[in-house]
Amino acid sequence: MLSIVIPVYNEEGLINDLVQRTVSALEAFIQDYEIIFVDDGSKDQSLNLLLNLQKKYPRIKVLSLSNNFGHQAAFTAGLEYSTGDIVGMMDGDLQDPPELFGEMYRKISEENFDVISGKRSGQKGKNRRVFFTFLFHLLFKNVSVLQNMENTGNFSMMKRAAVDALLRMKETVRYLPGLRSFIGFRQGYVDYVRDERSEGEPKMSLSKLFLLAADAIFAFSRFPIRLCLYLGLTGTIVFMCAGFYVLIAKAFGFAIIGWSSTMLSIYFLGSIQLISLGVVGEYVYRIYKESQNRPLYFVQKFYDGNPEK
Ligand code: UDP
Ligand code: MG
Repeated sequence: MLSIVIPVYNEEGLINDLVQRTVSALEAFIQDYEIIFVDDGSKDQSLNLLLNLQKKYPRIKVLSLSNNFGHQAAFTAGLEYSTGDIVGMMDGDLQDPPELFGEMYRKISEENFDVISGKRSGQKGKNRRVFFTFLFHLLFKNVSVLQNMENTGNFSMMKRAAVDALLRMKETVRYLPGLRSFIGFRQGYVDYVRDERSEGEPKMSLSKLFLLAADAIFAFSRFPIRLCLYLGLTGTIVFMCAGFYVLIAKAFGFAIIGWSSTMLSIYFLGSIQLISLGVVGEYVYRIYKESQNRPLYFVQKFYDGNPEK
């Protein structure tokens, strides 16, 4: 069986399209499937619409979370409730074409891959988000300890063994594309051009997007703490030179050690220290989050399409 996991947060405007397109894309190549929609605490009609559509399409299951826990937690919840031997993941805004699941499925069942990620060879539309995403991938590719992380997101398909491996990682701060690469197995790719969101506003605000990028960088690289080290080293070198100059000036008696040099060194050292403190703070915060060890999400109700329950 094939399971597809789709998180949904306030997407009432596109749910009809989403369900119809996904169902017909799947039925083109497989009979035995389930689609798990994870309603991430939507405040609009998303949940009701999904439950109505479930009557028409009985292979739909709806996992309703008790609050908005964020898109990575929603995916995790869906993966945990999925029962298929192969599991696909897709955003619920139709930026990733469900028609590609057929190709992913073929690669997994015929070419013996365990994990297939959608690789964005392009992105329709130009805006700030696209630009920032591009910058993030450029940085992440260069600083992360992971390989082949270029331009992959959540759109993917995995064999059960890979899903189980992914779910064994219990960290609170989660960047699933990174974790998916980290588990290894035989990884493959399909290229596609990412569409524009089919309807409505992005549900990941820019600030949520930046947080996700920070999570990825903190979890999969030493870049932030290295940055502090390099800044510190730069500071040390600059001030060794400056100190040397001061001593010479003193020795030769032309020392007019003025206000500007004092102020500059205070600013310079102060800012390096503040940056370092901020970075260390981020690490402390993340350690704190992990040590709280809270559940990633709570379930309001699982509508599995089985009327007896
Ligand atoms: N989403 C979610 N919880 C959230 C924010 C978003 O489940 O708190 C869902 C959203 O409904 C969509 C997917 O996650 O299906 C991706 O969100 P969005 O398109 O806003 O993000 P982006 O395309 O910028 O990554
Ligand atoms: Mg989107």
